[in-house]
Amino acid sequence: MRKLSLLLFLSIVGIVVFGQKEDSAFIKRISDEILVNGKAYENLRHLTKKIGARLAGSQGMVKSEHWGLKVMQESGADKAYMQECMVPHWVRGGEDRASLKKKPSGAIDWIRKDLDIVALGNSIGSEKNGISGEVIEVKSFDDLEKRKDEVKGKIVFYNYKFNDTYINTFLAYRDASQYRGQGPSRAAKYGAKAVIVRSMSHATDNNPHTGATRYDSNYAKIPAVAIGLRDADWLSTEINAQAETTKPAQLELELFTHGHFLPDTIGHNIIGELKGTQFPAEIITVGGHLDSWDNCEGAHDDGAGCVQTIEILRAFKALGYQPKRTIRFVLFANEENGLRGGNKYADEAKAKGEKHIFALESDAGGFTPRSFGMTGTEEQFQKFLSWKPLIAPYGCTEFNRGGGGADIGPLNRAFKTPTAGLNPDSQRYFDIHHARNDVFEAVNKRELDLGAVNMAALIYLVDKYGM
Ligand SMILES: [Zn+2]
Repeated sequence: MRKLSLLLFLSIVGIVVFGQKEDSAFIKRISDEILVNGKAYENLRHLTKKIGARLAGSQGMVKSEHWGLKVMQESGADKAYMQECMVPHWVRGGEDRASLKKKPSGAIDWIRKDLDIVALGNSIGSEKNGISGEVIEVKSFDDLEKRKDEVKGKIVFYNYKFNDTYINTFLAYRDASQYRGQGPSRAAKYGAKAVIVRSMSHATDNNPHTGATRYDSNYAKIPAVAIGLRDADWLSTEINAQAETTKPAQLELELFTHGHFLPDTIGHNIIGELKGTQFPAEIITVGGHLDSWDNCEGAHDDGAGCVQTIEILRAFKALGYQPKRTIRFVLFANEENGLRGGNKYADEAKAKGEKHIFALESDAGGFTPRSFGMTGTEEQFQKFLSWKPLIAPYGCTEFNRGGGGADIGPLNRAFKTPTAGLNPDSQRYFDIHHARNDVFEAVNKRELDLGAVNMAALIYLVDKYGM
């Protein structure tokens, strides 16, 4: 009896060891294929340089959708198609401008300094003649509450700093971005006429960073802009210098923005599919979002995630890999200011009664892969964790609890589909995020390719073993 169970034990170990050897050999082949023959970088060059910005509703969006469909076909998808969804159509509407005017005590003329600002996405514009008024600087929402009686008729300047003590910069972003999202309405509640937000970044340059704001329908909509960090510091110094002198200068901020919404328009998720050979009804999704802000090329956010997604498809086909399960490669529409693409994808899956067993998103930049984060049951997490030794040699040395992506969140909510997100090194991401310097040149080919290698390895393992 003992001998028998020992034999059984040894044969199971043998199968596991053999399986691991086979898996590690195949993952090495995936890696070699992507690092030697990868097309992600050249695809990204096309997307960013030939098409460029692609905010929902824009011409860039339309061009990028056609490009995405074509590349999915060329990369060997069994089926490539567009999934229609209505998207919001916000436009910047002109050049955003702001300047600080200063009239020293006793002087006749104003001195003017232009500030580097960018209107927040979804924000309304100033009237034609702009908005001008006194600026009140607050350091936080608590500070705003304390000074709420001083806010009326003024421009509120949220000078909330990105928390440098977080090693994972996404934690600092989550912390600071509430000022972009809620800041305008919270200031409007007390009668502010516009809002300036310190950019959500710890960059050393002065580029302002946009991103979506959300108006609370209970309060007036007021124009809202982000300001570059150097100008934010300078503005703060000017304001505080006035408070400390007995002969304060007159300070006035002047603001011109033109943002507005046009009617919703038709956008698309772009989907490439490899049909499963054994369990075609079980669907694995991998993707990034195709839209970007209008003030940049959207290279890291999220051109990188899109070309990595396509690269996994290309590499699987190049290696002759036939998945057991159906793999969908998805370029999602409208992540930045509406999430209509991600919602549509989940809604349609629900309507068709599809079975979604796993979803992976890359939307944290095309930098060196460091970890995967995963949301699922304990059992699913343990399975995911067991694959770490196979993937770690390629960069993702940490497998953490909690992860996914904005576009695959609706799948998780609809089906409890386990989701994962690729987490590259985060130190440089917020230097470029939603700013004019998120351009192709900021992406390194090797780092981008390695991200695709790690993602492909994970998708291969989920496909082989299920989730
Ligand atoms: Zn993004």
